[in-house]
Amino acid sequence: MNRSPENMSDDKWREVLTELQYQVTRCGGTEPPFTGLYWNTKDPGIYRCVCCDAPLFRSDAKYDSGTGWPSFWEPYAEDAVKYAEDLSYGMRRIEVLCASCDAHLGHVFPDGPEPTGLRYCINSAALNLERTEEAAKRKDIPHIDLDMEAGEEPDSAEGAGPRAGEKETSAGYQTATFGGGCFWCVEAVFDALEGVVRVVPGYAGGQVPNPTYEQVCTGTTGHAEVVRITFDPKVISYDDLLEIFFMTHDPTTPNRQGNDVGPQYRSIILYENAEQEQAARRMIAKLEEEKVFRAPIVTQVEPLEAFYEAEEYHHRYFERNPNQAYCFMVIRPKVEKFRSRYAERLKKA
Ligand SMILES: [Zn+2]
Repeated sequence: MNRSPENMSDDKWREVLTELQYQVTRCGGTEPPFTGLYWNTKDPGIYRCVCCDAPLFRSDAKYDSGTGWPSFWEPYAEDAVKYAEDLSYGMRRIEVLCASCDAHLGHVFPDGPEPTGLRYCINSAALNLERTEEAAKRKDIPHIDLDMEAGEEPDSAEGAGPRAGEKETSAGYQTATFGGGCFWCVEAVFDALEGVVRVVPGYAGGQVPNPTYEQVCTGTTGHAEVVRITFDPKVISYDDLLEIFFMTHDPTTPNRQGNDVGPQYRSIILYENAEQEQAARRMIAKLEEEKVFRAPIVTQVEPLEAFYEAEEYHHRYFERNPNQAYCFMVIRPKVEKFRSRYAERLKKA
């Protein structure tokens, strides 16, 4: 869809954005602090406009301001954003907007770090992080292309200059978030797939900010155990991931997977844009129509409004604890069954 402002009506923006994205970008809203997708994210990459995909900020200009909103000391380029005076709430503030589509992004304040002394205080809901390794290295290796002949290719990531970074950007990784019971099992499944770059276990879908594993285990935070998958869509598609997700857990048991019982084990797809939402609903309709499962699918389809990374000891749990009783009893048979069914899609050793 062409998302240039001339082409987009208010109704069309509503169609392609989640409610929170719409409220922030098209109505000048502010997300609550410490709840957005990116306030605490340190992953390298380029933050793009959630409305029109224009590049807005780089991860290497992001810093921890302690405010609970993603904070940057400079925009991606001088002309990436524009400014307006905002006199609401009895204050004089400088509003920051996407220069391409007028999306409200946040505000800029004069109390940021060097070298600019500015703090761009931006809503996560206005951004979409395109994760790339090279983009974040750009500041560390300035002037790299001064020594390069025109058309010469850097031969390693270390030598990659801005041009290589941009090439990687257009390659573009994407992210997908699923909950299908215990996240140790789900992580082990997706981590084995060709085209999956990273799998991070965490909590999402609930109301409590920064939950601990113990809190989530009580079943009262509203959060589900989920995994956030970074993948290369040229190798594996979101539809492929959806199909594997449905084939490797039971989407028909409410708040339960096998012996794991509680709302934290519910089956849930947390979409990050309207395309993912449509793909998820399509997949469920198809599985229902083909009567793949004996009972109705109860999988929830909800927007991802915050993702909280799980404590470090949960990462790669199965790989690090293959003989722990739970892994041995539950995860190993699951992973072995999965490996034989999807043998051709697994990473080569
Ligand atoms: Zn925009």
